[in-house]
Amino acid sequence: MVKYFNSKNVKDCCGCRTCEQICVEKSITMISDKEGFLYPNIDETKCIGCNLCAKHCPMEYTFDKKEPIVSYACQIKDKETLKKSSSGGMFRLFADYYVRQGGLVVGCQWNEVFKAVITFAEIETELYKMQGSKYVSSDTGDTYSKVKNVLDRGREVLYTGTPCQIAGLKAFLQRDYEQLLTMDFLCHGVPSSKMFDASLDYLQKKHHVRIIDYRFRDKTQFGWGLCTAYDTDCKGTIYEKGEMNHYLYGFTRGYMNRYSCYQCPFTGIKRIADVTVADYWGGSKYHANISWQYGCSILLLNTEKAMSIFKDIEENVHCENSTIDNMAEQNGSLKEEHRADTIPKIRKTIYKQLYEEGFSKLADESLTTSKYKWKRMLYSMPRWLYRVGQKINSYRIKLKRYSIGL
Ligand SMILES: Cc1cc2nc3c(=O)[nH]c(=O)nc-3n(C[C@H](O)[C@H](O)[C@H](O)COP(=O)(O)OP(=O)(O)OC[C@H]3O[C@@H](n4cnc5c(N)ncnc54)[C@H](O)[C@@H]3O)c2cc1C
Repeated sequence: MVKYFNSKNVKDCCGCRTCEQICVEKSITMISDKEGFLYPNIDETKCIGCNLCAKHCPMEYTFDKKEPIVSYACQIKDKETLKKSSSGGMFRLFADYYVRQGGLVVGCQWNEVFKAVITFAEIETELYKMQGSKYVSSDTGDTYSKVKNVLDRGREVLYTGTPCQIAGLKAFLQRDYEQLLTMDFLCHGVPSSKMFDASLDYLQKKHHVRIIDYRFRDKTQFGWGLCTAYDTDCKGTIYEKGEMNHYLYGFTRGYMNRYSCYQCPFTGIKRIADVTVADYWGGSKYHANISWQYGCSILLLNTEKAMSIFKDIEENVHCENSTIDNMAEQNGSLKEEHRADTIPKIRKTIYKQLYEEGFSKLADESLTTSKYKWKRMLYSMPRWLYRVGQKINSYRIKLKRYSIGL
């Protein structure tokens, strides 16, 4: 019988695996539900009722949260690294430092079947796979247990992940380690790998290709923003800007998130991680000295440990002080202490529709903009024409602002 131990409500579980990893009797395994999200399953013949799993569940654990000591608009100086990062390259800034010191970096990469898995890197060439956001639920596997072993042996570790994964790690470790640095990001939720698989399958059939690499945030065609790109076996790279990618359309609107994401307890200005990063959407109006073409990050240094490491690497970044108010303008979750998003109506049926009717029908009916055809024409224009259009549009907006005295 499947039993969700800690669940007055299944929606309270964030799927981090702390309970599974902390169980002394190994009586918990994580299994995928119908939607494709992981939940704990207790083998009652092994369970001794110690309640360790419930005590260390991050959704109920009490954390010592910290307000940022400093907040920056920040961008890595190395252009190539910046272009391959989702925003300002903050992950590589810290990760490079750790591998150079002989430390271990923990982060998310695709495995061979495009599942997002949390894994390890010890050399610079392994960090490349961790770069870039994978907008799907990732699996921490047994990384908490392995990291504890590494820390107990005194090695430096940088652990990066979603806020709930960092909370899970801290609740699992039960103590602070001087040689551990944690980095989270402002996260607006994760869909299941089942939904992502279905979208890949849909794209492969649509284009008659096999996808060999997939990037949610590619900057080569349109610069910083939302542009999906996938490398194929026979048609080169295919680019889909923002809403033209049906999966991304649903993701940005929060149509298919894990239920726990809609009431995430890890939002807000007080953070569990040492470092918090995010896209600095809308920041260009406050920081004219930074070039925004390839993006810029919000960087929050929340602990003295983070401050001290940043001192050693700050020469590698363009960096300006920025206020939380400015940062929160387009990243509302930064100010909300505990997010209680209204669950979109479509969330209740979207997974049912997926396994009853398939992704193709979802894409046509629910995950598409009403201006799909018009936008497809716009984005398939020659690049130079598209850029001229953008320039004219920005002058038009400036002129309008000027005429109404702003
Ligand atoms: C699911 C998700 C939701 C997000 N929501 C927002 C948001 O609402 N607002 C916002 O400003 N930013 C959000 N971000 C963060 C943003 O997309 C960038 O990842 C962040 O700004 C870091 O960019 P970078 O250039 O420093 O690093 P990059 O080089 O892009 O580094 C990526 C980092 O993210 C980690 N990562 C990538 N995918 C996953 C995953 N699925 N699970 C765990 N860790 C992962 C990698 O391990 C690495 O540490 C989100 C990221 C993810 C993965």
